[in-house]
Amino acid sequence: MTSMTSKTGDLADDAAATARLTIDLGAIADNWRTMRDLSGEATCGAAVKGNAYGTGMAEAAPVLAKAGCQHFFVADANEGAALRKLLPDAEIFILSGAFDAAIPVILDNNLTPVLNSLDQIAVWRKAGNDRPAALHIDTGMNRLGITPAEAFEIAEARAFRPTLIMSHFACADSPDHPLNAKQIERFTEVRTHFPEARASLANSAGIHMGEDTHFDVTRPGIALYGGECVNDVKNPMRAVAKAEARILTNRIAKAGETVSYGGTVTLKRDTRIAICGVGYADGFHRASSGSGVPLRQALPQGGMGAVEGHTAPLLGRVTMDLLMFDVTDLPEILGVPGQWLELFGETIALDDAARAAGTIGYELLTSLGSRYARRYA
Ligand SMILES: *Cc1c(COP(=O)(O)O)cnc(C)c1O
Repeated sequence: MTSMTSKTGDLADDAAATARLTIDLGAIADNWRTMRDLSGEATCGAAVKGNAYGTGMAEAAPVLAKAGCQHFFVADANEGAALRKLLPDAEIFILSGAFDAAIPVILDNNLTPVLNSLDQIAVWRKAGNDRPAALHIDTGMNRLGITPAEAFEIAEARAFRPTLIMSHFACADSPDHPLNAKQIERFTEVRTHFPEARASLANSAGIHMGEDTHFDVTRPGIALYGGECVNDVKNPMRAVAKAEARILTNRIAKAGETVSYGGTVTLKRDTRIAICGVGYADGFHRASSGSGVPLRQALPQGGMGAVEGHTAPLLGRVTMDLLMFDVTDLPEILGVPGQWLELFGETIALDDAARAAGTIGYELLTSLGSRYARRYA
């Protein structure tokens, strides 16, 4: 495996860093091909907003483009401008749409806004452009997009002709949720009014729902980065990100003593503790504070670490820059200073680490802080 350092994350010096993130770009490409194949006849795009879900847009986007992706979805015009520098020919959709201050950035960088309201349509028309723009129809999420009724009026007036219409699922992670069928039905109906536009509905989980959701363009995000997208289904994607913390010291604490702030966990035995150089400032959520914390007792298990495949429970509260793991049960030569302790990636699935914090893989990936030494393989 070759590795290169990040173009964007050089705040952390590799050698001195106490936090390390390894991103498998080959896995991102493989995952995209999997979603492309699952998309059937539809063209498969990619959501690369939020710095490609924390994995690094500068590295991930060119790899996706090389795999054959030509449609990219980002959150705002600034992300779009950064992506344009990397991919001169791609079609780049701006999900937050067009507002006055964003217009120059959109035009200068040849970006395609996804217009989300009647106001945004007016702003785009005032900008006087026949350039491509997409139209978002809200079919049941109550977030962005015009209503189906508004869409029918727009179509009738023929005053604005989107090149693509799109909508977004609210409950795609639960395939049996009745809202999915309603959204598909509403979107299919709206589509008949825009015969010249391409249509796009499915995110990662939507793609798994099957042909009815695929339309012309699909928009996978989390699946590309190895995250779970459908509840209670074994994740078929390749893992992409591995986060590790350097073990700074070991300490032996006695039975009856407590660990970390608040003294919330009382040790039941003499314990070898690995003190690791990652904390909530690195996006390791404080909510994953170890299961010894009284508040956690009604919650799923707290965070876990792993050294060479051996798991070790997190002890006590997560602190800003440090984590404590119980490595008593590991072989003596593991969990010692200088080694790296995995927080998620190989032994511990991203989504298991997220569940331990009461959240989802999306949030874990997008909160990774700037202290990680990033390595791309
Ligand atoms: C983020 C996003 C996607 C990608 O969703 P995933 O669940 O990550 O696959 C698709 N469409 C829209 C509108 C989004 O905001």
